[in-house]
Amino acid sequence: MVFKKVYADNAATTAMSDSAFQTMIPYFKESCGNPSAIHSMGIEAKNATEDARRKVAKAIGARVNEIFFTSGGTESDNWALRGALELRRNKGRHIITTEIEHSAVYKTVKRLEQDGYEMTYLPVDQYGQVRPEQLDEAIRDDTILVSLMLANNEIGTILPIRKLSAVARQRKVLFHTDAVQAVGHIPVNVQELGVDMLSLSGHKFRGPKGIGALYINLKMHVPPLMIGGGQEKGRRSGTSNVPGIVGMGAALDDAAEHLAEHSTYITALRDRLIDGVLKFPGAELTGDPKNRLPGMASFIIKGFEGEPLVPLLSEVGICASSGSACSAGSGEPSRVLRAAGYSKKDAMSPLRFSLNEDNTIEDVDYIIANLPSVLAKAAAIKPLSVFINLDDY
Ligand code: PLP
Repeated sequence: MVFKKVYADNAATTAMSDSAFQTMIPYFKESCGNPSAIHSMGIEAKNATEDARRKVAKAIGARVNEIFFTSGGTESDNWALRGALELRRNKGRHIITTEIEHSAVYKTVKRLEQDGYEMTYLPVDQYGQVRPEQLDEAIRDDTILVSLMLANNEIGTILPIRKLSAVARQRKVLFHTDAVQAVGHIPVNVQELGVDMLSLSGHKFRGPKGIGALYINLKMHVPPLMIGGGQEKGRRSGTSNVPGIVGMGAALDDAAEHLAEHSTYITALRDRLIDGVLKFPGAELTGDPKNRLPGMASFIIKGFEGEPLVPLLSEVGICASSGSACSAGSGEPSRVLRAAGYSKKDAMSPLRFSLNEDNTIEDVDYIIANLPSVLAKAAAIKPLSVFINLDDY
């Protein structure tokens, strides 16, 4: 039997846009110059990377010299955190974040904790929201950094970063936001958000994988994470990934230009999917019902583990995910859902469909139509109680 193919895992990664793909091609061969070289092909590559930097800066309301290219969201997050701590090392050793951050932030702060830094994990409500008053209460004299994500990768909640950063600013504490899931999907403007540093990643908005950027406010002299040949004005060494940079620039340019139109289209698909899935007994929406990413339809299906559903959906051509791609296969309850107050059992049951402008109404209806048979198959294979120790929660 031939099944329709439905890709609904765009929060994990996206297919590249045609324009991003076409823009990259010359830079693999005929325009292969190193932008640090001073011959014609080097200059050509340099001009292309600077053009992409302008596009990225424009898309997020930054100045061109505030954009530093990295290898992706993970590097940007690591750099922001470690760089800020080095910059403020004489002020203190206290950092504020949450338990719902992506592992690129969460595991970095866990490591920093082992190195003697003190963490405060702000509590989140059932939607994954943080209130500015909670941040205000948590800031101490020795707080040097607040890192809070703009949009969550598992449940799609959009946090009130503008209000949160205002609190940090008033208390003279640096503010980093991981905007990897937000950039290219919702309006992001670093001036309006009032952040000092912001991470983004090309492959989340139809650019290539392995390329990202860190926005660093001009006033901040964050020291480098990568030391070497002095590229990116000495702030991030390593030969520039020219095809990646131009591809990301083109993708973000496209995404920014069509943001409103895509957002309306994708939100309608998402809501159709949410309405359809919520008709199943035991299905609950996770994340903020209102302030959520346009493409994010995330659920728990009570009584079912999320992870075994993924290969079963895949058998009928549907690519979805149980929580984040990075925690897939861990067999652990979702850290994000636990932080949002879900029981261990329910936190084993996440199911995430993430849509973008490539998806259609037919895709959504196909998912809804196939879910009953997938759930029936999952129930026949193994009841949830066999997977986990019910005494544990
Ligand atoms: N931050 C968030 C919120 C993400 O969703 C991801 C990727 O899933 C990352 C950081 C890491 O980005 P990258 O895959 O570019 O390293």
